[in-house]
Amino acid sequence: MIDLLILNGRVIDPASNTDRIADVAIAAGQIQSIIPRGKVARGPLKGKGSAQAGQAPPARRVIDAGGLIVCPGLIDLHVHCREPGHEEEETIATAAAAAVAGGFTTICAMPNTHPPMDNETAVQYVLQRAHEADLAEVLPVGCITKGRAGKELAEMKLMLDAGAVAFSDDGDGVASTTVMYRALQYAGTLGVALMQHCQDADLAGGAMNSGAVAVRLGLSGIAAAGEELMLQRDLVLAERTGARYHVQHLSSARSVEMVRQAKARGVKVTAEATPHHLLLTDAACAGYDPVYKVNPPLRSAADVEALRAGLADGTIDCLATDHAPQSAEEKELEFALAPFGMIGLECALGCFAKALIEPGVCDWATLIAAMTASPAAVVARPRGRLAVGARADVTIIDPARSWTVRAADFKSKSRNCPFDGWTLPAKAVATIVAGKVKHDEIG
Ligand SMILES: [Zn+2]
Repeated sequence: MIDLLILNGRVIDPASNTDRIADVAIAAGQIQSIIPRGKVARGPLKGKGSAQAGQAPPARRVIDAGGLIVCPGLIDLHVHCREPGHEEEETIATAAAAAVAGGFTTICAMPNTHPPMDNETAVQYVLQRAHEADLAEVLPVGCITKGRAGKELAEMKLMLDAGAVAFSDDGDGVASTTVMYRALQYAGTLGVALMQHCQDADLAGGAMNSGAVAVRLGLSGIAAAGEELMLQRDLVLAERTGARYHVQHLSSARSVEMVRQAKARGVKVTAEATPHHLLLTDAACAGYDPVYKVNPPLRSAADVEALRAGLADGTIDCLATDHAPQSAEEKELEFALAPFGMIGLECALGCFAKALIEPGVCDWATLIAAMTASPAAVVARPRGRLAVGARADVTIIDPARSWTVRAADFKSKSRNCPFDGWTLPAKAVATIVAGKVKHDEIG
C-alpha cells in the first residue's frame, strides 16, 4: 500500500537530471516509485484527491500537484537556532517549524550558541531536541575551534562521530592562519567540509557596507576587502591541503570572481549566497532601520549582480538563508548598536524566485539544485534527491503563487525579516519529511 501519492506534478530532480510530469509514490518513509505520466497502465484510484488522475496505484492519501513543482526537500546550510542560550529568540523546535513552513526538510544548525557547540555532548543535544520536535531534520555544524575562540582545534572527530556534518566558527572567521591551516589538514583527513565566515579580523568592526551610503549616514563601514582577504588566504590553504572548503554568505563581486578562478584551478571550494545579498543593497540602510543590519552587510548593486551571475554559472553552488533571529528589544536599538541578523526560512524560496527566476537569471532546475543536491553534497548526506529507495523528503512549490510576506504570522519566534510586506512570486506549499506531511497549504 502506498502511503502518499503525489499526482501529476512537474517533478524536478537535478541529481538525476529529471524535469517531467510524473507521479511520486511514497511508502514506509521512502520514495517507492516515480512514474512518468502516460507511461504505465493504471489501476483504480483510492482515497481523496485528483479526479482527473483516474488511475494510479491505491494510496492512503493523494495530493494533486497539477501545475505545481515537486522536488527534493529543500536544504538550508546556514541556520542559527539560538538554542542553547537564546531561547527567547528561537529554539530548535521553532526553527524546525519555520523550516517546514518555508519548504525546508533539512537545516544545518550553526554552532555560535551559548555555550558554543564545540563538543559531542552539544552535538547530541541538538539532535535530541530536533528529534523531539519531529519537524525538519536538523544537522549540527560543530565549531572549528574550542569555544569559537580561534586558538585551539575543537574535537572534530568526536563531533563527527556524534552526528556533526561540517564545522564552522560562523559569526567570526578563523583569524589565525596557522589554526586554519591545521583545521583544513585535519578536516581533509576526515573528509568533512569546513565552512568559513570570511572576515579579516583586523578589518572587522563597523555597522554597514563601507561606501558612499555609510559616509552619508555617518555610520562606520565594513569593507568588502575584509571578506576578500580571508577568502584569498583560505583558498591558498584549501588548495595546499586539498581539503573541502565552503564559503558562507558571499557578499562581494570580487569574492565571486576569486571562487570562480579557484574552481577553475580545481580547488575543492563551494559557496553559498543568501536571499538578502541577492535582493537588497546598502541603500536599504538609508532610513537607519536596523532590520537591514546584517553581517556580512548589504553591499552595492554591482555586488548583487555579480552574486546572481555567480549563481547562474555555478560559481555559487548553494542558496542558504543565514536565518539569524534577534529579539525585538535588541534589534530595535539604534542602527549602530543593534545586533546583526535577519530571519529568512519562511520566505526564502519566494525571495530566491524573485531574485533569480523573475528576472530570468536562472531556471527552476538550477535554483532547486542550489537548494537540494548541492547543499547535500557539501554536508555529504544522502539527501537532496528523489531517487527510488531514498528517504521521502519532498517539497512542493507553487511557481505561480503570488503572496505577501507577513512576519507576524511566522512560526519563528523572531520578527526581524527585511522582506516583511513584500509580495513574492512563488511559494513552498507542502513539505514532506521522511514521508510525513509536515506542512500543507495546497488547498
Ligand atoms: Zn556568518
